[in-house]
Amino acid sequence: MSNQDTRQKILIVDDNKQNIELLMDLFRDEYKIAAATNGERALKIAFSSQPPDIILTDILMPGMDGYELCNKLKEHEQTRSIPVMFVTAVSEVMDETRGFALGAVDYITKPFHPPMVKARVGVHLNLKRKQELLEEYAFIDALTEIPNRRRFDEVAEKEWQRALRSSQHLSLILLDIDHFKLFNDTYGHGEGDETLRAVAKAIQKALRRAGDFVARYGGEEFAAILPYADAEEALHCAGEILEAVKALDITHAASPVADKLTVSLGLCSTRPSVEGSLEAMLAEADKALYLAKNQGRNCFRCAQI
Ligand code: GH3
Ligand code: MG
Ligand code: MG
Repeated sequence: MSNQDTRQKILIVDDNKQNIELLMDLFRDEYKIAAATNGERALKIAFSSQPPDIILTDILMPGMDGYELCNKLKEHEQTRSIPVMFVTAVSEVMDETRGFALGAVDYITKPFHPPMVKARVGVHLNLKRKQELLEEYAFIDALTEIPNRRRFDEVAEKEWQRALRSSQHLSLILLDIDHFKLFNDTYGHGEGDETLRAVAKAIQKALRRAGDFVARYGGEEFAAILPYADAEEALHCAGEILEAVKALDITHAASPVADKLTVSLGLCSTRPSVEGSLEAMLAEADKALYLAKNQGRNCFRCAQI
């Protein structure tokens, strides 16, 4: 979808509909807005598949009050990072430190001073966006700009659990560049870095099925997870990767294997069971890779467990 609405979303929580309207008028041009007239409804929205980027909540509400709402949001991993701002009337004597202790980021006071309210909400939405970017970067390998091992571990575990639940096949591939030390020694580390980037792109291009996931696993090693793929499909993918690397046509004159850069792959294909584990799959793929290395390189070997 090219015209997806990427604006940030504000959730306004207040038992007084007029207050909701007032805040909505302030923000509706710039942000997506959701509203709730009680804490229970606000929680539902916060836990939905389209959670808000910030929550502005009244404190005094029948049933669940603002403090309790904030407390519940901070208790759960899924909603913990949504900033909460309390909306209070200047006439109300409020214990501001209590809100901060619960994890709120700021207070807004009624009657609203629109430019101030907009500025403060803007600051926190900006911080939220930056925080998300930082978290994203923490999972990206700086050199190749593809996901890193940390991300791989997360995705692989999730896919393992999913395949286990649904009794689906799961395959994984470990890939290691052949004689890469010799490549660096011959052409220099800079050229080596460039080659790592090119290989990362080639693997990504070769793995075209939805859900296929590739990461830089370590120095000159890459790992891919292929959800729903049985051994036959995984072998096909491995073939495509070998071809894609070959098509890069990178000269490696010092390589005893070929005059071009080549890679070796170890595969493991399984249908997860409670006796198995992702670690066992990785160990098998590693053994298969070792075999591929020992049996000439520029090839793949597959373990089925
Ligand atoms: P083999 O075919 O057995 O895998 O031989 P190899 O030389 O590829 O394996 P080895 O593990 O001996 O060497 C890996 C090399 O990868 C050594 C290291 O300098 C290089 N390498 C690892 N990370 C990077 C990187 O980020 N950039 C560059 N340019 N080289 C890297
Ligand atoms: Mg290696
Ligand atoms: Mg290597």
